[in-house]
Amino acid sequence: MIFEVLPYTYIVTNNITGEYYYGSRYRNKEPAIKDLGIKYKTSSKEIKKQIKEFGLESFTFTVLFEGIHDVDSYYWYEQLLIREHIKDPKCLNQQYLDPDINSKKWSMAGVAHSAATKAKQSKPKSEEHRKKLKESNQAKAQDPNYIAKLRKPKIASHGANVSAALKGVPKTKEHCKSMSDVRKGKKTGPCTDSRRSAIQESLRGKRTLEGKPTDPLGKTYEELHGVEKALELKKLRSAHMRKIRATDTEITCPHCGQISKSKANMKRWHFNNCKKRK
Ligand SMILES: [Zn+2]
Repeated sequence: MIFEVLPYTYIVTNNITGEYYYGSRYRNKEPAIKDLGIKYKTSSKEIKKQIKEFGLESFTFTVLFEGIHDVDSYYWYEQLLIREHIKDPKCLNQQYLDPDINSKKWSMAGVAHSAATKAKQSKPKSEEHRKKLKESNQAKAQDPNYIAKLRKPKIASHGANVSAALKGVPKTKEHCKSMSDVRKGKKTGPCTDSRRSAIQESLRGKRTLEGKPTDPLGKTYEELHGVEKALELKKLRSAHMRKIRATDTEITCPHCGQISKSKANMKRWHFNNCKKRK
């Protein structure tokens, strides 16, 4: 089947300020990869202004979603992304239509772009100013207090909405790749480098279930035994774990009825933490 248009949802990021904008495109007859950032830059006036100031080379254009001919999906995906990020001062989108409220009007609910935020968004003037901004942003990104602030609780239905919007939608290779590119090099969790190394330090030399030290010298299996021997040891280790699990008794979550031998998983996701718990 040949479609007349090849819609897609995208994000444009200003690599210098870190500001970004979500949009969708519905009129292109060329595939997104030949359209976005080439024929079509954005629907954002702010981004257009910034492109003039910073130069096109300062922007990253990423296709987030493409490959099916259902314009609504692109639209709602974009709206959900905006809803998720609109309170972030770096998010340049100003409004969204909330599928939960099902409003016919553009919802301004949750728009946090106060005068103070606007002032923060004013563009840096000099090369030096930009550099300082970049440095301070990098420092900020490592600040645990700042990271904690960023981790806002999601609206309960958010995950369900995104999931419903994308249900049954086959992802193209390009889509997968762009999702991967967007995440590349980003931290996936709240764990800072210093926290991670503190955890590693506290576990060093601790005994495993086999009763043998994991790495008495702070070395990996590979460093201690060589690659081949390490592989053998790891296989032994997982066989041992399998044996322990096999002899374990099954436990049942009283809330949802899930049965498992993995006490750790059951404790983490069921019993008091069970989704079905009332
Ligand atoms: Zn459960």
